[in-house]
Amino acid sequence: MTLLTDTHCHLNSPHFAGRVGDVVARAMAAGVGTLIVPAWDRASAEAALALAEAYPAIRAAVGLHPWFVTSETDTAWVAPLLTHPRVVAVGEIGLDGAIAGEDPARQERVFRAQLALARAHDLPVLLHCQRRWDRLPAILRDYPGLRGVLHAFSGSAEVLRDCLRLGLYVAFAGGVTRPNSRHARAAAAAAPADRVLLETDAHYMALEGVPAEAAEPAHLPRILAVVASLRGDDPAALAAQTDANARALGLLRG
Ligand SMILES: [Zn+2]
Repeated sequence: MTLLTDTHCHLNSPHFAGRVGDVVARAMAAGVGTLIVPAWDRASAEAALALAEAYPAIRAAVGLHPWFVTSETDTAWVAPLLTHPRVVAVGEIGLDGAIAGEDPARQERVFRAQLALARAHDLPVLLHCQRRWDRLPAILRDYPGLRGVLHAFSGSAEVLRDCLRLGLYVAFAGGVTRPNSRHARAAAAAAPADRVLLETDAHYMALEGVPAEAAEPAHLPRILAVVASLRGDDPAALAAQTDANARALGLLRG
């Protein structure tokens, strides 16, 4: 059986403090063999690296999340951490138009600085995008050859088309298990198999019947099952395909 990869789970959050070992053990028992833990700021990046050093199943991503660009714009700390052997991506980075009082130009500057770093280090990016779908493709087109994944995908068919054209992968999270997640479910059915990834986004996204605060990587097989059924795929075949995709993107190195 193919071991699954949870391409986005925040085990570095204080929410999981003192119980990461149990969460990892439950993930492994559920068939989830690799956990990618993205940062949102410097302290969370260092926490992700510490977890990646402590647990063979964990890999880290390092970057400054748009939510934190309001209080922090310095990204000079990012580059030195990217050479760590357990870092597999720059993330979580991106654009968010839903933050009150945010300066879009500043957010874009910080995003671009990190896209350049990803390219210089030949690392994929873990992308967050909310209410800036209009800007994302235009910015990414300035970084040809950049590899990446749009995390917790819930965009329209048009956004999906843009992402695919840019060569991005799309990762489906717990939202896809909820019957009212129209865009996410339509995209999960339509995305080409060789661009699909899976994630829980724990502990920020509920699954049908599981509140966000209870979500953890062990729930990933439920997301696999729903995505497979939406696509009419055999779950084992989809598991093998997502594993190949995670490898092709470079998320399983280190
Ligand atoms: Zn995240």
